[in-house]
Amino acid sequence: MNDLEFTRSVLAWYDGGHRDLPWRLTKDPYRIWVSEIMLQQTRAETVISYYERFLSRYPTVQDLASGAEEELLKYWEGLGYYTRARSLHKAARLIVSEYGGALPADVAALRALPGVGDYTAGAIASIAFGIPAAAVDGNVERVICRYFGMEDTVGTPAVRRAITEMTQALVPHDRPGAFANAMMEMGAVMCTPKNPKCLLCPVRESCRGLAMGIAGELPRKAKKKAQRVEKRAVLLVFCGNRVLITKRKEKLLGGLFVFPDVLEKGTPAELCAALEEKGIRAAYDEPVGHARHVFTHLIWEMDVHALIADETVDVPDGQWVTRDELQALPLPTAVKAARGWAMERLE
Ligand code: SF4
Repeated sequence: MNDLEFTRSVLAWYDGGHRDLPWRLTKDPYRIWVSEIMLQQTRAETVISYYERFLSRYPTVQDLASGAEEELLKYWEGLGYYTRARSLHKAARLIVSEYGGALPADVAALRALPGVGDYTAGAIASIAFGIPAAAVDGNVERVICRYFGMEDTVGTPAVRRAITEMTQALVPHDRPGAFANAMMEMGAVMCTPKNPKCLLCPVRESCRGLAMGIAGELPRKAKKKAQRVEKRAVLLVFCGNRVLITKRKEKLLGGLFVFPDVLEKGTPAELCAALEEKGIRAAYDEPVGHARHVFTHLIWEMDVHALIADETVDVPDGQWVTRDELQALPLPTAVKAARGWAMERLE
């Protein structure tokens, strides 16, 4: 099977039936862009409801550009990786100011937008504009490595470049968008990370990985670094019917509201002293629960405590919020359990 036959086989298989994902039913570059950003770190099945809700609130680039960041984050809540939402917002403003509200039909210009990497630029260019560009995500990388029996460790710029070139050679000029979707579909439902369905695969006859008996082992990946564990004491500081939240300054979850927290400290006296440093006088009440959140390279082990403050003093970047306000704010998933406990007590 040569390159052309590979492409034809994959397209014929795709045309024979595939998942009806909502972003496959549109040609609107804006909608395709939003879907691609949401799909960057999230499974398609999860994205669907977020995608629909987001687009009913922000049906055009202009609506997104003129929206407030805080509200936008609320619509993103639960998808995680909030940097994506902020980049989307910045890019929307840029598209309005620089491109008159229409996404540029050019790979390099797309690639220059905040939050758009090689893969996303290739996907938008091919799917929305019919430009024969390669779009290599994790799914496509896996199909290519297995099909060509490529045993190099993936993740380095050189190997990434090689895989992009191999994919580029397969992109048909007449249906680049369908091919991009077909390759992603192959990776998602046929050439799956575990137990690929090689018996049903349209390109099995010439798949080198299968012939070599190593399909399931590919792509070869560098060993992951062990995740760092951070012990955090999360403080629910109540005053009457309000609880204190503060905006995070750190890069991770930066700009999002969380409850104040303290690293590697846990005795009631230590927690009260930590709050006193921020100008808040509070008495320790009781331990509330434990929560764990796993980021890509980091794990938060969180002991959540309740404290009672004397008064709602002004705290830099802080707000004393009621139950309803707490519910309406975009809080990261990492503190969802703590929010639940805070809301129970505010009832
Ligand atoms: S034959 Fe198996 S390993 Fe090869 S491309 Fe198809 S599903 Fe993937």
